Amino acid sequence: MSPVAASQDPIEDHRTAAGAPATTFAADIGGTWVRMSTGGPGAPVERVPSPSRLRHPDRSTARLRADMVELLSDRVPAGARAALSFGAAIDHLTGTVYGSAPLWGAADTPYDLAADLRRSRPDVTWHLVNDVTAALLDFAAVHARPGTRRVAYLTVSSGIALRIADLERTRIPVDTWGLQGEVGHLPVPLTDPGAEVLAGLPCECGATDHLASLASGPGLVRAARRLGIPRAPQVADWLPGALDANDPGARRLLELGAAPVAHLLRTLWCLDPHLDLIGVGGGVAEGLAGHYAAEIRRRLATATSYADRGRDDAWLGDRLVFCGPGQVDPLRGVLRIGDWLPGVTP
Ligand SMILES: [Zn+2]
Repeated sequence: MSPVAASQDPIEDHRTAAGAPATTFAADIGGTWVRMSTGGPGAPVERVPSPSRLRHPDRSTARLRADMVELLSDRVPAGARAALSFGAAIDHLTGTVYGSAPLWGAADTPYDLAADLRRSRPDVTWHLVNDVTAALLDFAAVHARPGTRRVAYLTVSSGIALRIADLERTRIPVDTWGLQGEVGHLPVPLTDPGAEVLAGLPCECGATDHLASLASGPGLVRAARRLGIPRAPQVADWLPGALDANDPGARRLLELGAAPVAHLLRTLWCLDPHLDLIGVGGGVAEGLAGHYAAEIRRRLATATSYADRGRDDAWLGDRLVFCGPGQVDPLRGVLRIGDWLPGVTP
């Protein structure tokens, strides 16, 4: 198998056979907005409402998919190299999109978006990656230092996902399904005292007791409800202020939501001591800001065994970055995908 469209050249330096530079088109596609730019880094960004299930609950999945292909086909310049960051689990080897509830509802049949785009606009070179991959490339470009061996980006948002890149070899390893780091759908450890109250919470994927069941944005709403917090549905609005006010229910919710994320980070460093840099972003981490960072760091500072001796502020300061809103941009990151596609391999 080969990557979606491999190239040895950085995407912005690619030249067509005629010798003219191909126009660069980039899009960041989510359930709410589609952001697009033409012309490479620094080009103006256009934002249009996403033709998604979220915005059009009445439209069929087939219609929504056709609308997306039409939107992108309309905007992409002739002969362009198009780099798309997509807010869904995606097979990085083929461009096939696995489930994306905000975009297309609960349809669980994989959809070969790349194939439809190529049929619609065969003159364009299409590159498709997951938005966490695109975010990682932007994060790495800003934060990696000389000597950084591997770098990860973890998003804690409407879903939870992680991506790791090997900077020494310019590789993003994927499995035979073209996936890496869909950690939100791993079983969640409920090891904190009293955490068993959260057992059995559902996940967006249809299973129960996944990391995203309780630690994602919707997961925190479910956890708040289970804890009997009165304003559970408004947890995103309520929680930051309640933490400022040292509300005990808010504190408990933060602890239970952060615990499995800290456990994930601890496991990552146990398995890969050369993971020199991890960025944490996404709506939950950004919305809870200092409270979230402090709770994760507090947990990582605690020794759990000789294999996990606890990490002090200096150690974490070198390796763990909590990103603020807008600091990591998948639209900017996806422009770098041309450098990486040859290294996106099973
Ligand atoms: Zn799940």
